[in-house]
Amino acid sequence: MIAAAVAGIGAAAAGTLALGAYAPNSRVFGDVIGRGPRSSRTLYLTFDDGPNPTATASVLETLARERVAAGFFLVGEHVRRYPELARQVAAAAHEVGNHTQHHVKLHLLGPRRIRRELEDAHGAISAAVGRSPRAFRAPHGYRNPFVTAAARRLGYRVVGWTFGVWDSDRPGAEEIRRRVRVKASPGAIVLLHDGDGYDPAGDRSQTAAALPGVIRDARDAGYSFRPLAELLA
Ligand SMILES: [Zn+2]
Repeated sequence: MIAAAVAGIGAAAAGTLALGAYAPNSRVFGDVIGRGPRSSRTLYLTFDDGPNPTATASVLETLARERVAAGFFLVGEHVRRYPELARQVAAAAHEVGNHTQHHVKLHLLGPRRIRRELEDAHGAISAAVGRSPRAFRAPHGYRNPFVTAAARRLGYRVVGWTFGVWDSDRPGAEEIRRRVRVKASPGAIVLLHDGDGYDPAGDRSQTAAALPGVIRDARDAGYSFRPLAELLA
């Protein structure tokens, strides 16, 4: 009886920790920004895993033409490869965030390796763009208590997302556009990919091609885009 009860408590605790490890907006391991206020019809665009030679420049062009400020979570190793693209992101006044040095799944790693992933990316991004990131997003959202500690040491806010559309599976630009239109909700942080976490030159041209339609649909539905920076204050 007692053993069963103890096992039950253990399972419940393990369940809570698993939720914290895998759910991008779970607060089990500390504060996470998972959405903006639901009170206004706003959306926050974010792009992960860049910079990338197939998509970042085109995404930046669209955002500039449409006067939308977004957040970019950069992989340190890709910044080292494409520093000029990283500079262009920062020069356009988008929020530039840390997405680890090697895009590793952090939840099963120990404190030293996690600290190194965050600090190396912090160094690579700061050196390339001339300013320090102040936001962190974990690859796949996977975290553990050491991730929170490492992010806090660097003075970061941890950012999750409200919805993604699996654009990295390359379902076609029109399908990416349709998924964003269907899922949009007031205050949502939208997760898109201008890069590939594992292949520095992975093809993200579909996301770039979808973006003008994504912005048009949202505006037609009465949404306005606000900078991610507004949620970090
Ligand atoms: Zn990623």
